[in-house]
Amino acid sequence: AKEQGKNQYQFFNGKMDQGIMQKTIIETAIYQAIEQREFTLFYQPQLDIATGQMIGMEALIRWHHPQMGLIPPHMFIPVAEETGQIIAIGEWVMEEACRQVKQWNEQTGRALRISVNISPKQFLQEKLVEQITAILKKTNLTADSVDLEITEGVAIFNEQHTIQKLKQLKALGVHISIDDFGTGYSSLSYLRKFPIHRLKIAKVFIDGIAQTEEDQAIVASVIGLAKNLKLRVIAEGVETFQQLQILRSLHCDEIQGYVLGKPLAKEEFEKVYLK
Ligand code: C2E
Ligand code: CA
Ligand code: CA
Repeated sequence: AKEQGKNQYQFFNGKMDQGIMQKTIIETAIYQAIEQREFTLFYQPQLDIATGQMIGMEALIRWHHPQMGLIPPHMFIPVAEETGQIIAIGEWVMEEACRQVKQWNEQTGRALRISVNISPKQFLQEKLVEQITAILKKTNLTADSVDLEITEGVAIFNEQHTIQKLKQLKALGVHISIDDFGTGYSSLSYLRKFPIHRLKIAKVFIDGIAQTEEDQAIVASVIGLAKNLKLRVIAEGVETFQQLQILRSLHCDEIQGYVLGKPLAKEEFEKVYLK
């Protein structure tokens, strides 16, 4: 984007395809969005099935564009991941999420935990642990109020490096969940070596749980696997009461999904879940 002015003619000489041009436009718009503070967080509750209590919530980013309105993450997170802008965005998300949960816990006297999505590039950046340590200090939040959701994909890059990073995060005291579990890295051997707390069963498996025996078998196996490894297990994308009942009968620990509620802006979330 730096040499954009100089190279603008390139858009017209046919050498750049539309995809690249679009990416450049989005990249520039993201820079502006960071400067103009156009990002905001939505929150979706996570429920302990056994107790019926809300245990925390996932922070999900939205881009509040002045002209286009609310832009969902799949429209810009992949570009931000490619350009490296995800580092700056992720730092903002972490601080905002920590500040928010600290405020909610103080107001309500509860010990809610906030789940924050960490992209592969963010996870691999050198300063991640340092950055989270600084944010916890700044917001005066205890580390165990934070859950980092990482995908299986980060393991592929460099297993040794990943283990080392996870150990540092564990020492810090934050929780780690494997997001979209079952859709990524094919080997399960990493589960023995990674110091993690929770598996998050991908929505694709939950979708079919009430219709197909195969999906129910997969979900039952993942829950069994989690129990054997002494990990917590949460199902995401739970939309119906029937799915919830099946998950309860399979002894799944926690759920998240439209059956409880869609992600909400801060004010709405407070009204619905914290009053
Ligand atoms: P994810 O981490 O797997 O988040 C779950 C997505 O499923 C969210 O979409 C959520 O709104 C949606 N969802 C939750 N329950 C249901 C349900 O019952 N049914 C259906 N159909 N959908 C449900 P969202 O908010 O659009 O986020 C999409 C993805 O964008 C996230 O997937 C995550 O990978 C990424 N993302 C969101 N926020 C952040 C962030 O702050 N940082 C990073 N790096 N990535 C983020
Ligand atoms: Ca997630
Ligand atoms: Ca997920």
